[in-house]
Amino acid sequence: MEEQLRKTETLNVVGELAAGIAHEIRNPMTSLKGFIQLLQNSISGYAMYFDIITAELNRIESIVNEFLVLARPRVLQFYKCDITRIMRETIDLLYGQAVLNNVQFRTHFAKNIPKIYCDPNRIKQVFINIIKNAIEVMKEGGFVTIEIKKEKRNTLVVAISDEGGGIGKEDLKRLGEPFYTTKERGTGLGLMVSYNIISEHKGKIMVESDLGKGTTFFIYLPILQKEELEE
Ligand code: ADP
Ligand code: MG
Repeated sequence: MEEQLRKTETLNVVGELAAGIAHEIRNPMTSLKGFIQLLQNSISGYAMYFDIITAELNRIESIVNEFLVLARPRVLQFYKCDITRIMRETIDLLYGQAVLNNVQFRTHFAKNIPKIYCDPNRIKQVFINIIKNAIEVMKEGGFVTIEIKKEKRNTLVVAISDEGGGIGKEDLKRLGEPFYTTKERGTGLGLMVSYNIISEHKGKIMVESDLGKGTTFFIYLPILQKEELEE
């Protein structure tokens, strides 16, 4: 719990900083992309350079976008939503990336899942971040298993499991830290954003991992009234 608190505080500081910087970077980025496009259409013979420039610009853009999610932590909009449906939409969205990585989805959605108050866009963002990590960790392909069920009377659990290499004990503690990444092209912001969003829903994320076998992310969402979430 203390760990969770410390992370949330770091998040607010980073969030405020991010707000300013992200907005400032966005406009010149858009302009750069436009001019690169123009150049690319009028110069021939440098296709590879243009591909690299475009890829790097896209990377900056994705970092900035993740920053922007961080920067607006206080404006969640709670609606009564079907979590299962949000998950189905997420899977559709990531289907292409999964196929490219030889990854297949397996779903077990319980039938009695009640609608709950949540910010659907933020929840989708969390699902995307965690499922993307699951896909990325399975270098040789495999199954991403997604389970949604009700636990006790007042909690929904979304469990996302992969068959990747797992996470060591020391590294487990670092999940959700800003900029913690083990990927060459990672931002180390996806989990931090996700932990923040779930804590704004008064929920929590737990991780279980077996080295060499895989990892499961458990997202716990309490079933609350709208007022309880907004207070
Ligand atoms: P990024 O994906 O950009 O590296 P994230 O915040 O999404 O940033 O993840 C941070 C780190 O947590 C990853 O670089 C990886 O080391 C670890 N991680 C996250 N999900 C998994 C997973 N399913 N299996 C193994 N490691 C993971
Ligand atoms: Mg990630």
